This record gives sequence, C-alpha cells and structure tokens, in this order.
Amino acid sequence: MKIFISYTFLLISFSIQAQNHGLEKDIAAVESKVIEWRRDIHQHPELSNREFNTAEKIAEHLRALGIEVQTGVAHTGVVGLLKGNRPGKVVALRADIDALPVTERNDLPFKSMVTSEYLGQEVGVMHACGHDTHIAIMMGVAEVLSKNKDKIRGTIKFVFQPAEEGPPPGEEGGAELMVKQGVLENPKVDAIYGLHIGSYLPVGQIAYKPGGAMAAAQRFVVNIKGKQTHGSAPWGGVDPIFVAAKIVDGFQSIISREMELTKEAAVITVGKMSGGVRNNIIPESAELIGTIRTLDYDMQKQINERMKEMASAIAKAYRAEATVEIDKGVPITYNDLALTEASLPSLKEVAGDDNVHLIKAITGAEDFSFYQEKIPGFFFILGGKDPNAGPNDHFPHHTPDFKIDDSGLLLGVKAMTEIALDYLDRAK
Ligand SMILES: [Zn+2]
Ligand SMILES: [Zn+2]
Repeated sequence: MKIFISYTFLLISFSIQAQNHGLEKDIAAVESKVIEWRRDIHQHPELSNREFNTAEKIAEHLRALGIEVQTGVAHTGVVGLLKGNRPGKVVALRADIDALPVTERNDLPFKSMVTSEYLGQEVGVMHACGHDTHIAIMMGVAEVLSKNKDKIRGTIKFVFQPAEEGPPPGEEGGAELMVKQGVLENPKVDAIYGLHIGSYLPVGQIAYKPGGAMAAAQRFVVNIKGKQTHGSAPWGGVDPIFVAAKIVDGFQSIISREMELTKEAAVITVGKMSGGVRNNIIPESAELIGTIRTLDYDMQKQINERMKEMASAIAKAYRAEATVEIDKGVPITYNDLALTEASLPSLKEVAGDDNVHLIKAITGAEDFSFYQEKIPGFFFILGGKDPNAGPNDHFPHHTPDFKIDDSGLLLGVKAMTEIALDYLDRAK
C-alpha cells in the first residue's frame, strides 16, 4: 500500500510537470525592490523610442547581477543573457518598457508629473498601460534567476522592448524591429513568454487564451474621388461624401453578413471620415481611415479582399472611384497551442488552480505577435486590480485614471520565473 501511494504521487508529480524550484525565499526577498523599481519607473515615464533613462536603469541592474547586456537594440531596447550552469535550450522573457502621451490624474505619491513633446504638442507622459510593472517584474525575475544559475538548464534571454505602443510616425520600432535586428538569434531562442498587467483583473489572478488571443490590427485608408460642384446643384458633379457614407455602410455588411462570427470575432472601424471645406461645395474627394481587427488569417484575407471589391464597386455604382490601401499591420497574438498547454501547470502552481482563467480573445492588439510569428510564444494576463475594489471599480488602460495595485507584482515574478525554469526543464 505504501509503495502504491508513492508510485501514484510520482505519477502525479510527473504529469503536472511543474517542479518546485525552491525559490520562495529569493522571490519573497525581491518583492519590496520590485515595488520600489515600479514606483520609480512610474514616476519617470518615457515615450516610445525615447526610453533612454529607463533603458539605462535596466541595463545597470542587469550588469550588477552579472548578466551579459546588449543595449541599443531597436533604438532603446536592452537584452540580457543569463547562462545557467547546465546546458539546454534558450527561452526568452519579454517586457515592454514604453509609456504613453497621457496626463496622469491619480493622486499617488509616485504620480507622474512628466511632460514631453509628442508630434509637436506638449503632452503629459504616463505609464497608462502598466508597462512600468512589466519592467519591474522582469528586473525581479532577473535578480532571482541570476542567484540560482544552478537551477537553470540552459539560457534565459531577457528582452526589454521599446515602443510596444507603436513608434512615432516615420520611425521604426517595437518588437518588429527587435526581431529584424536579430533578438531571436545568437543564441537562437526556442520559445518566448510575455505577460500584460490588467487593470480589470483582480490581483492574484491570471487569464489566458490558447490560439488567437489578441487581434491582428491593420490600418486602412480609402480614397474616394468624385467631381466637385456647387452644393446647390449635385447633378453637376459626383458627391464623394455621399459615396463615403455608402462605403462605411458596405464595410459593416462584410462583418455582419459575410464573416463566420461563430469562428472568431472581427471588427472594421472607420475612425476618421474627412472631405470638403464648407457647406455649399460638393468636394472633389473624401477619405476614410480606420482599423481592421481579426483573430484568424483566412478571415483577415477575406476582409481585406472584400473591402477592396466593395469600395470600388460601390464607388463605381455612383460614378465615383475608390482605392483602398491596407497595411500589413500587427499580426495575431497567437499562443502556440502545445506551448500554452505545457505552460499552464507552472501558472497553476504559482497562482492556484482556481485563479488561472481561460478567457475569450481580445480585439486589442499586442506586438508580442512579431516574436510569435517566428517562434512558439505564450502571452498571458496578470491581475493588477485592487482586490478590495468593486466589480466595476477600475479604469481602462490608456486613460488618466488607470491604476495598478502593487500587490499583484509578486505573482508576476513567480509566474515568469517558474514558467521559464519549467520550460527549460521540459526541453532538456
Ligand atoms: Zn497599451
Ligand atoms: Zn500595453
């Protein structure tokens, strides 16, 4: 009987595949530092591709830990390489480091008072998406792991990435540029993990979605050419504003009448409609600018094709002409199915089974997808909402009242540390 019990226990230990690495003491010891770093970074936010001081703080920290550091990757990115004492594969952990042109309205001792110039305008700068917490968590993970090289079967690459929110117009940046500059090579990375703090998810919880988790985002521009005439006599010309309205209508019918929405969600939003200068002139042209969100590449292809067909056919019907330009955009944040499944035990181990939730896809986009285009990756959401707040008592990301509770950071450190070590253990 005794033997049978131990055998069953062995089986269970094997099947959950999440080892306890005995890092509790080191992780607990780093918590106060992580909170301190987070508050410092929160108080000193920097815009995309301008994260100079942030990058310096990160690089300094990694160097002090004895981690090999590369700076200036994709402008202000920092990459750290930590080799374990045992041979094995390479796993990357990514944290994005940029802030947003938002003026903070929170009353916090570490409130951001920073202003900067953005597109010729003086703006407030704030970590209004919570990337300050990502940096601090990852600095904590680096500290814990650098003290436990004997437990690392392989190599850990820390990817501190600038410009996740998108580089300023006319500049390259973000994950796409990091990949282009070889962040996944030398040494070649086998898998990558990333997390995003959520102001809507209570502290202590983790949410994930296998497969298409966050949407691909494409920007589109429609140019409609009509024929200018007097506003009192439309029969003398071709009204591009009228045609633009019909095209907006037509685009929404692609979503509602042509997409198999039970498969995945899809969105077309026209965010800008412009044309004309005054009340009594029918102008020469009009323009529509918008975004397309998809979670499936076949649906994306179909939407792209149909938008072009629809715009030009509608324009033709009303004697106008229309062209549609759609950029490649940001890919789908696609969580590799096998990697997601294999990584869940690590998350359940640190958060508890009941605190790891399967969620629906999000139509927001995340440039972590550029890494996932090349190698298997898993991106999940970490709770950052005050556990005592009411169900609707939170503010969305990118707003002046956006707030994250520091007590959620510890779970982020635990999750990233264990998920990386477990991956390397499995891949040995
Ligand atoms: Zn954001
Ligand atoms: Zn973000």
